[in-house]
Order: sequence, then C-alpha cells, then structure tokens
Amino acid sequence: MNIHEYQAKELFAAYGVPVSKGVAVQSEGDFDDALSQFPENEMVVVKSQIHAGGRGKGTFTDGFQGGVKLAPNRAEAKEVAGKMLGNTLVTHQTGPVGRKVQTIYFTEAATIEHEYYLAILMDRETSMPVIIASTEGGVDIEQVAEATPEKITKVFVDPAIGLQPYHMREVAFGLGFSGQAFKDMVKALDGLYKFFWEKDTSMVEVNPLILTEEGNVIALDAKVGFDDNALFRHPDIVELRDMNEEDEKEIEASKFGLSYIALDGNIACLVNGAGLAMSTMDIIKHFGGDPANFLDVGGGAQVEQVTAAFKIILSDPNVEGILVNIFGGIMKCDTIAEGIIEAAKNVEITVPLVVRLEGTNVELGKKLLDESGLALTSADSLSDAAEKIVNLVKEA
Ligand code: ADP
Ligand code: MG
Repeated sequence: MNIHEYQAKELFAAYGVPVSKGVAVQSEGDFDDALSQFPENEMVVVKSQIHAGGRGKGTFTDGFQGGVKLAPNRAEAKEVAGKMLGNTLVTHQTGPVGRKVQTIYFTEAATIEHEYYLAILMDRETSMPVIIASTEGGVDIEQVAEATPEKITKVFVDPAIGLQPYHMREVAFGLGFSGQAFKDMVKALDGLYKFFWEKDTSMVEVNPLILTEEGNVIALDAKVGFDDNALFRHPDIVELRDMNEEDEKEIEASKFGLSYIALDGNIACLVNGAGLAMSTMDIIKHFGGDPANFLDVGGGAQVEQVTAAFKIILSDPNVEGILVNIFGGIMKCDTIAEGIIEAAKNVEITVPLVVRLEGTNVELGKKLLDESGLALTSADSLSDAAEKIVNLVKEA
C-alpha cells in the first residue's frame, strides 16, 4: 500500500524528521482557508498529490505544465491549484493515462542549497534493509545509477543489530555533510529508519532531501510504500489508504484474497502460483503478445474465488483474449473448470479463451469444460497455450 506525500510527511514529523509546513485540501472551496495559513506575499509551493513520482516534470492532459509549482504569492497559488485539482497528471511513472489529482498540498517554499537523494528499502539479495544515498538528488536515481554509480552510497543494516551511529555517520559523510548539518542529517536518518522499521514499510524514498541556504536539513518530497502483509499490525496506516489511487480491479481482487496486478497489455492470464504466473507472462511476451495482468489464484482457491478472478479479468476493457494456465497440485483442475463455468453464466465471454490444464483431476476438469459447451481452445503445454492465444487475438 502506498500513501501520499502529505501523509508521509505527517508521519515523518512524528518521527522527528524535519519537513516544511503544509496543508492538504480536497476541494476548491477550501483553498482560501488553507492559504490563509501562509503569509500573503511569500512563495507557496503547490503540489499535486498522486501516488506517482516525476510530478514536477509532468504535464496535465489539458496541456498545463508541472504538477509541482512555485507560486510567488497566495493569489497565484490559488490559481495554480485550481488548474491542478480535478485535472489529470501524466508523469513518467503514471503511464500515458495519467492520474486524476484529487488532493492539493500547499507547502512552504524552501531555499535550496543542495538536493540529495535518500532512500531506505529492503534489499532482497542480502535480506537486509539498505540505505541508499546520493549527492545527486531531485533527479531519477535510476539515471544516477547508470551514469555515475560512484555517486551512490549504499549502507546495509543488519536487522539483528539495527541502525547504529556508524551507519548514520557513513551516510552523512558520504553525502559530504559537516558541522551542524551533519548532526541534523544523522538525526533525520535516525527518525527515517525508525519509521521505516516500526511501520513495516517496504520503501521510504526522500527525493530530494535538501540542505537549505540557512543550513537546515529538510525532507522536501516523500514516497512511502508499506508491506501489505504487515498492514494488519497498523490500523493507523490502513486509514491512510486512498482508494482513488488504486485500481478497482485490484481492490476487488484483494477482497477475494487473489493476487492481481493490472498491466497494460491485452491478454489476460489466470494462473495458480506466482512463479507460474510470471513464466506465463514471459512466454506470452515470447510469442509476441502482451499480458493484461498478473493473476495468481493461489493454491487453495475455491470455486467462488476462481469465479471472482474470471469476472475481474473480464471487466478489463483492454482484454482481447484469456489464457488459463493451471498446474494442478493442491489446486484441482475441476475447481478451475467449475469457476470458469460459473463465471461464464454471469458474464458473457466474448474473447478467445485458451485453457491449459495439467495435474490433479485434469481429466475431470477437461470433462466439465467439454460438457459445458463453452467455446474454448484447449492446449497441451504452456508454449502451445501461449502461441494459441497470441494467434487467436491477432486473428480476431
Ligand atoms: P516529484 O519528485 O514528484 O517531481 P518533488 O516534491 O520532488 O516532486 O518536487 C519536484 C522539485 O520541486 C524538487 O526536486 C524541488 O526542486 C522542487 N520543490 C518541491 N517542493 C519544494 C519546496 N517546498 N520548496 C522549494 N522547492 C520545492
Ligand atoms: Mg521528488
């Protein structure tokens, strides 16, 4: 689960991480009230709140430039905010459809001396949290990693020991801090790490973290993702969930305990097991197709879940073909067959459907599908199935 910048900054502040003051609003009628908290003729930064980065360099679908704007005074801040709210912002992270801005964050303008990059994530290779820091902030870290990898400092934190002063000093030294700013940086990192750890986040990214001309360290942007599997421990975080930012199909899938992720392609897949789902997507690509989703119905899915899964993939208007790929183990092929038949009773399947069943109760599953009268193509292997669905979609 992700949260907005303004929500992340409130959490940062509670952990002693310095942020600039700000106020978030959801409706135009509240602009004046919110802006009255800023001095009349001082700069106000107007920030579109969406769960995607690259807002500053983004463009709205009506041509308005920039999802983060510095306004010279309150009046102009109000005007800019009016153009952003309700408008759709496209950034390199949103995809071409963009995201509708439903919250505006007004915040104090900082005088930037230097922009840094700071992030804490889980490193899968070492199974340890890693702090990633760079003097090249405010730009894409992927670009920095490619062009000037020497400008990135990585500090691994053994979870059995936790964050130690030497870790923090290594980061602050790596970024070239000294004097009071060095101490402030250490304090900010201490707070960020505590937040990262205590709230079970999967990623905390501050890009940029800045040093102001006055010598203060401030988190100017904030991107935070939480580990969904640990959300049950954090009801306060769950309350921050913004359903506007989430894919409706993904919300529906989570109600049925399905792992579903919407993608941009046109071939839907229904698979059991995450690894098989990944390889199914790969093989669709291999035959020149594009997967419309990742969907793992899990090992122990019941007919009800399979039916729900099938309805969810059919509700995606981009879907032009469906590939069911089941390797029955704990999951029985007849359960899948029943789920498909049940779903087809409620929603008409108007696109080609290729089914590959293998494993537990395969004969029974095939028999059920044969007798159902559903128009489908069966396949004997994964590559046969992928090739068939790609060709059927091309022909259709
Ligand atoms: P995004 O990463 O989505 O583009 P940021 O919050 O990082 O959004 O803002 C983009 C840039 O705008 C920052 O790198 C910084 O240069 C500038 N900026 C953002 N907030 C402020 C602020 N409060 N004061 C001054 N400049 C800001
Ligand atoms: Mg940023």
